[in-house]
Amino acid sequence: MTHATSLPGTSDITIHDDAGEVLLFSWPDFVTRICGGLACFICGRTRAEVAFNDEHIVPNWVLHAFGLHGSKVTLPNGNPTLYGNYKIPCCEACNGEMSRVLEQDMARLVKAGSGAIQDHVAAGGGMLPYTWMALIFLKLHLNDRRMKMHLDRRKGDAPISADYIWEHMHHLHAVARAFHIGAEVRPEAVGSMFVFPVDGREGDFDLHTFTDAQTLYLQLGQTGIIAVFDDSCAAANRVAWILQKIVAPVSPVQARELTAHFALASMELMNRPKFWTYVSADRKQVVIGGTTDPVPMFPKFDRKHFGRMMANAFPTPPPVVGKTAPEVAAGLAAGEISFLFDSNCEFIRDRARFLRPE
Ligand SMILES: [Zn+2]
Repeated sequence: MTHATSLPGTSDITIHDDAGEVLLFSWPDFVTRICGGLACFICGRTRAEVAFNDEHIVPNWVLHAFGLHGSKVTLPNGNPTLYGNYKIPCCEACNGEMSRVLEQDMARLVKAGSGAIQDHVAAGGGMLPYTWMALIFLKLHLNDRRMKMHLDRRKGDAPISADYIWEHMHHLHAVARAFHIGAEVRPEAVGSMFVFPVDGREGDFDLHTFTDAQTLYLQLGQTGIIAVFDDSCAAANRVAWILQKIVAPVSPVQARELTAHFALASMELMNRPKFWTYVSADRKQVVIGGTTDPVPMFPKFDRKHFGRMMANAFPTPPPVVGKTAPEVAAGLAAGEISFLFDSNCEFIRDRARFLRPE
């Protein structure tokens, strides 16, 4: 669970610097201003204070690069919406800043092609894609405030986000906007991230979220990125044995299964980190950190729990040789189908023997 502390005894107070910039949003302020209202999701300013423009949830350059303007994403209410319509309010200054410090560099790496993001991360540049992923996860969920959970009006008007526990995203938000206030982000405050090659022949873009597990998967061309935002890298630790077995680029379907493993680990982490934000008395230094146990602990692997994640990962069951769609759905939900590993727990390279062509 997320914890925010700052100057002793002031965790319920929002802290500003001398210029009026918010250094730390209190929990109630985070929920009402960032999650509940129409304030800029980075700085918290309102339309009455500054000029606003719309921010694409999936950045415009990604929509262009992968031809997604006309493509549809299926929202959690089952309602397909055009990617290009997927925007949330953001002030012009923050929008411009994100473009300068994040989007331009990410666009350059993605355009550089396969391996460029991995190389950047290996050279110590992991915070760039991690922050960028955190912002997309945050924007996707803030957008759900405006989307109805039920298309059938008789079932009520509740937004998709009605069941979200916004406090859980407080830490994610603090890390995602750290660039804006120049906060130092300690390694323990950062979650798991795995960047890997994807065989792009079966599609060059994918996006999937596991809300409760704070896990996001994105495929950008031949690169897949999985990020977990509240686990202090425990999930990567848990799935290390799986990562070791993957010896070739994975297919988009295999990548989603891999994400389900990260999400399961994120959900099942028993000794969760406690996150905090420190603001110095002169308000000139902000540090975001986490307190973790020396060893992350997990329950024994439970096939049924894994099945729940697989059912989430595949709302539309992939075609499988010798099985009907309902059989695949049932097998996924029971945790009995794997696209990554054969019955000997070896990585499946030859996917033709597994997947039925559509
Ligand atoms: Zn702003």
